[in-house]
Amino acid sequence: MSKFAAEVDSRRTFAIISHPDAGKTTITEKLLLFGNAIQVAGTVKGKKGTRMATSDWMAMEQQRGISITTSVMQFPYNGRTVNLLDTPGHEDFSEDTYRVLTAVDSALMVIDGAKGVEDRTIKLMEVCRLRDTPIFTFVNKMDREVRDQIEVMDEIEDILKIQCAPITWPIGMGKAFKGIYNLYTDTIHVFEPGKGLTIPDDVRVEGLESDEAKTLLGDLYDDFVEEIELVRGASHEFDLDAYQQGLMTPVFFGTALSNFGVREMLNDFVEWAPKPLSRNTETREVDPHEEGLSGFIFKIQANMDPKHRDRIAFMRICSGRYTRGMKMKHVRIGKDVKIADAVTFLAGDRSNVEEAVSGDIIGLHNHGTIQIGDTFTEGEDLKFSGIPHFAPELFRRVRLADPLKMKQLQKGLQQLCEEGATQLFMPTKNNDLIVGAVGVLQFDVVAQRLKDEYKVECIYEPVNVFTARWIDCDDDRKLEEFKRKAGDNLSVDGGGHLTYLASTRVNLAMMEERWPDISFRSTREH
Ligand code: GDP
Repeated sequence: MSKFAAEVDSRRTFAIISHPDAGKTTITEKLLLFGNAIQVAGTVKGKKGTRMATSDWMAMEQQRGISITTSVMQFPYNGRTVNLLDTPGHEDFSEDTYRVLTAVDSALMVIDGAKGVEDRTIKLMEVCRLRDTPIFTFVNKMDREVRDQIEVMDEIEDILKIQCAPITWPIGMGKAFKGIYNLYTDTIHVFEPGKGLTIPDDVRVEGLESDEAKTLLGDLYDDFVEEIELVRGASHEFDLDAYQQGLMTPVFFGTALSNFGVREMLNDFVEWAPKPLSRNTETREVDPHEEGLSGFIFKIQANMDPKHRDRIAFMRICSGRYTRGMKMKHVRIGKDVKIADAVTFLAGDRSNVEEAVSGDIIGLHNHGTIQIGDTFTEGEDLKFSGIPHFAPELFRRVRLADPLKMKQLQKGLQQLCEEGATQLFMPTKNNDLIVGAVGVLQFDVVAQRLKDEYKVECIYEPVNVFTARWIDCDDDRKLEEFKRKAGDNLSVDGGGHLTYLASTRVNLAMMEERWPDISFRSTREH
């Protein structure tokens, strides 16, 4: 294998999916600790544990770089190069969160052992399903009084429709938590509390049958042996192919806060998680080992500081190698651009990237010419597919404080929506402007930026829209009839596509039933 191919194959590019408070930030800190990326865990985010108010968030964005540099974290581990892409949680949840999942090769699902499967996880899993993304599972907070873990495993199987293959299993929980047992290596990893800020010693007891194991488990021993039999009977045996096809998830247990169980998960992760996968374009499949550079933009990070108008466009490299100062073709506008100063994400070292290969993420400075979904190559006219818009879940009508500024408002909204964190809808029957978002914070961000960058003050009003669906129909006559009959609910989105704005879930279901020839799609590709 060439040196280049080996470099590509060492990449493991993934994101964490979880419900807020399940422990994503905590586990990220521990992963970086194992990657020697930080000296003492606890420096990943500005303020953690507290829910950030909008104003805090904006102030944080203004301290240029904080959220940009934590958007992607690269670290070496066991001879591999791990790229961890952050999926914003809490209020800053946006369409970007969903789209990050199109730029990874696999995901790690973190579940709170006391809570089981929660809403946000269900939604993020739906997005992973679009590409059959392989999923690792870490069930967290074993140091607490958690639920019966067989029940949690059943819940994952039932609700998320994925087979579970426990690799480790917890011994006790809460105050009686003793460690984890690896079902495949017959090894007990012994829990030592209070090692959260350091890499814990790897204390092992080999063999559940051993005297040492019996001593360690004490009163718990007989019950635990029985439980393990039950677990083996009730779960699936791990199958690497099934995992890589997204049909099965290996399950690990531990406590991120005490940094326990994370290493065992990470060790298997870098072995089993897929290396960079091939990607589809509109014309051909691109192999990550191809030498010519290609990549697509999956996220644009706004800079809230009005003094720094540029934004960072995040590019997933799909083939080839980026080197500093190279020329790339911006395919949509058909121009060559010289990229001198892409941003890299090697944690702990934030200098400009010199090189990056397939699987890596680089940040391009964007002065308004780059959009979500754009493809860059070394000359070939390619367009990567599968970078979708997701139907927003929240809608507001935008009104102007000063009606004379309509032009600026339209231009501003259009441009902000092109970045992809929010979407714009223009009803066909009136002059309303409706903004749709996945997370509520996005509305404030749009208002703030309209004010700073376009000098327009806008006011939001509630609007009676439950969701949006993109309309597709092969039969022109049917489509015309639909347009006539459903006109009151139709609008055109920022990209010129026809959308149906449903007022309620019931309304949507009714329309779908009434118009079988029309497809109502919840995603649209760029
Ligand atoms: P995020 O919202 O998913 O990023 O969650 P955080 O990592 O911020 O964790 C949410 C809360 O759970 C914080 O107060 C953490 O300290 C706590 N937490 C995280 N992992 C554990 C764990 O293993 N055990 C316990 N007891 N608490 C945890």
